[in-house]
Amino acid sequence: MTSLFIQGPSLYTEDGIIENASLSIHEDCIEAFFSCHDNYSNSVTFPSSYSIIPGYIDLHVHGVAGVDVMDATPEALNTMSQMLAREGTTSFLATTMSMSIENIYSAIKNVASYLQTPHENGAQILGLHLEGPFIAPDKMGAHQKKYLLDPNIALIREWQTLANGAIKLLTFAPELNNSDQFINCLQTLNIIPAIGHSNATFQEAEVAIKRGCKHITHLFNAMSGLHHRYPGVALSAFQHDILCELIADGHHVSWDMLNFVVQKKGCHELCLVTDSMRAKCMPDGEYRLGEQKVYLKNSQAKLEDGTLAGSVLRMQDAVKNLIQQNICTLKESIFLSSINPAKQLGLFNKIGSIAIGKWADILILNEQYDVVMTIKRGKILHSVY
Ligand SMILES: [Zn+2]
Repeated sequence: MTSLFIQGPSLYTEDGIIENASLSIHEDCIEAFFSCHDNYSNSVTFPSSYSIIPGYIDLHVHGVAGVDVMDATPEALNTMSQMLAREGTTSFLATTMSMSIENIYSAIKNVASYLQTPHENGAQILGLHLEGPFIAPDKMGAHQKKYLLDPNIALIREWQTLANGAIKLLTFAPELNNSDQFINCLQTLNIIPAIGHSNATFQEAEVAIKRGCKHITHLFNAMSGLHHRYPGVALSAFQHDILCELIADGHHVSWDMLNFVVQKKGCHELCLVTDSMRAKCMPDGEYRLGEQKVYLKNSQAKLEDGTLAGSVLRMQDAVKNLIQQNICTLKESIFLSSINPAKQLGLFNKIGSIAIGKWADILILNEQYDVVMTIKRGKILHSVY
């Protein structure tokens, strides 16, 4: 029996756009879709100017609404899941930062135990993204120097065991000691090695990518750049089929540079992330990131010295920004917000696009690309319709 029947909007399927679409969801999966002008009495009907697209997948998010993954409590994860669903995120990687080994241990343990039971009322946690502590002191951004370590194989093995395999992505600096063996170890543990918070030379980045790094964390931010005499990680991003994260808030990367990246790399090797911290969806004021004070003003979260300290970006605004800045179309943005991150995690058979049999992780957007309804696995999590 069909559990939910939606009618009216344009449907962005894996194979193309269907106008005046009807979409049926059976339990947690997409059952069928077709173009239809008849009105069914049992359907939820939206204007034909609205769009149905796959749910957003955020591979890099630390916090929102006053909570952070490093709080290491189930309540923090509950709040995050529920709040992120409001911005259209249907699944995400809970992201840690460089803090004490004990604090990282608690955060991992908390996510692992949270994942032991199903949670239907919020966005799905797909696992962990460890950002640090194996990062470069000269590109640490808002991480603290006292917590930075060289890549440590014994530690990552211990953490992945503690996590029951839930660590999916790890951001580190490949110019640090032991990186070659570390990359090999990450691959055997099914963790995607990501280059980030790195001052690697272009050559060092090339070696790391050839060894198996498959991801670049917040491209251009906290990394060696596109300098004409001293090219770094950012140049490597353009030389390989490697997925690069973008923070599309207009503060972390300029619109012109974002436009350049999308033109150069195309839509298939980029993904939108928020990298948001606990001040998202909160009023301007003083917050904490790790042990440091962060000041939120004019939609920018900064340390006292002016260093950007994560973002307060919502996924729905990241998508909206790309479209409104004429950087890409809604159809193209779906690669960055859903398809590519799903593929990166090896989950594209279940999520990331609208296709029959996949989980019904779906958004309804209005003409302004605001999320008016979020559905995860067939259940309405959020609606302002
Ligand atoms: Zn981050």
